[in-house]
Amino acid sequence: MANTDLSTADIATRAIHAGQEPDPTTGAVVPPIYMSSTFKQDGVGGLRGGYEYSRSTNPTRDAFDEQLAGVEGAKHSISFSSGLAAIDVLLRSFLKPGDNILLGNDVYGGTYRLLSKVFGPWGIGLDVVDVTDVQAVTERLSAKEYAVVWVETPSNPLLRITDIEAVVSVAHQHGAKVVVDNTFASPALQHPLEDGADVVVYSTTKYIGGHSDIVGGAVLLDDDDLYEQVAFLQNAAGAVPSPFDSWLAIRGLKTLDLRVKRHSANALALAEHLEQRPEIERVWYPGLESHPGHAIAKRQMHGGFGGVVSVQLAGGMDAAKRFVAGTRIFTLAESLGGVESLIEHPAAMTHASVSGTALQVPDNLVRLSVGVEGKDDLIADVDQVLDSLRG
Ligand SMILES: *Cc1c(COP(=O)(O)O)cnc(C)c1O
Repeated sequence: MANTDLSTADIATRAIHAGQEPDPTTGAVVPPIYMSSTFKQDGVGGLRGGYEYSRSTNPTRDAFDEQLAGVEGAKHSISFSSGLAAIDVLLRSFLKPGDNILLGNDVYGGTYRLLSKVFGPWGIGLDVVDVTDVQAVTERLSAKEYAVVWVETPSNPLLRITDIEAVVSVAHQHGAKVVVDNTFASPALQHPLEDGADVVVYSTTKYIGGHSDIVGGAVLLDDDDLYEQVAFLQNAAGAVPSPFDSWLAIRGLKTLDLRVKRHSANALALAEHLEQRPEIERVWYPGLESHPGHAIAKRQMHGGFGGVVSVQLAGGMDAAKRFVAGTRIFTLAESLGGVESLIEHPAAMTHASVSGTALQVPDNLVRLSVGVEGKDDLIADVDQVLDSLRG
C-alpha cells in the first residue's frame, strides 16, 4: 500500500496497512519486534530514525500507534502498558488539584477505584451521574464546574447506552472535555471523535488485542497540544507497553473488523435466545429492541452491537453463581473481548471494588463475553446449565 492514501479506505484495509510498511532494511512484511532498550547513536545525538531509548519511543510501538490511529481516524494514538495506565496518564496530563470529574454511574470498576481512591486524595473532585440521562448531566454541569465528563458506552456491565453527541453538546457549552472509553464497542463499531468527543481511550487488552494474551491501553485524540502533554507524561512516568506486547496488539488489530462482526452476530443470537428462557429475568444487550438504549445504539454504532451480553437470573444470586460455574465452553474468568467466550459474576468479581458505592451492580447479574466460536455450540452450552437450574 506504499503511497496510498489510507484515510478514505475501509477500516479493514486501514487495520492491515496503516503503519505497516515493510521493514526498509530487510523487506520483512511484518514489522519486526524491536526488542532493544537503547539505540546506537552515530556521534552524540546522531539518532537513526529518531530512536534513542525505548521508554521514549520504540519502532514496534510506533507501528502499533500508527495502525490504531489509522483505524480510529485519529491524528494521534499513544499506547500504554494497561488501560488504567492510559486513563491515569491522560487525566493527570490536564487535571490539577481542585478540578472535578463527572463520571457515568456504570463504568469499569477500576476506573472508579482509580478516581475515588487515588485521584480523590490528590484533590480531584468526583461526582457520579446517570450519564445516559442528558437532562441529569445538564443539571450537574449547570451546578458545578467540571473539567471532564467521562462516558463509557456501551457501559460495563449493564450495556447502557449514552448519546455521545448529546453529552458532547452540553459538556462543551459548559467548558468540559468529553472522554469516551470506547473499549466495549471498539473502533470497529463506534467513532466517538466523529461524534465530537475530545479523547477516546481503550483497554487494548479487550477487543483490539482480541486474544486474551496482552494487557494494554491507548489514548486517541486530534488535539496537538493535549497530545504533547500526554506524550510528555507517558515518557516522564513510564508506563509504556513492551515491544512484544505492541507486536501482539498489531497482530490482533489486523483482524478486529472480522472478529467484532462475528462477536456481534453471536452475541445477538445468544441474547435473543436468552430472552426466551424462563430462568432469565432480564437480558441486557443493546442490539435487542427491549433494551432502553436500542434506538441510540442503532444510530451511534455501526455494523453491530458488540460481544458482551449481561443477564439477570430469576433465581437470584444463587442461580447466578450456579450459572457461571456450570458452563463448559464459556470459561469462568474476568475480562472480555477475546476470541474465546468468558462468563463471570460481576458483583463478586470485576465489580467487587464498587460494592457499596453508586456503581454497585445487582447480585443476580452474570456477564458473558461472547467469543467467535460456533453460535449453536454457545447456545447449547448456556442451555445445558439453564436446564440444570430447574432441578
Ligand atoms: C478492562 C477495562 C479497562 C481497564 O483496562 P486494563 O487494560 O485492564 O487496565 C478500562 N475500561 C474498560 C471499559 C475495560 O473493560
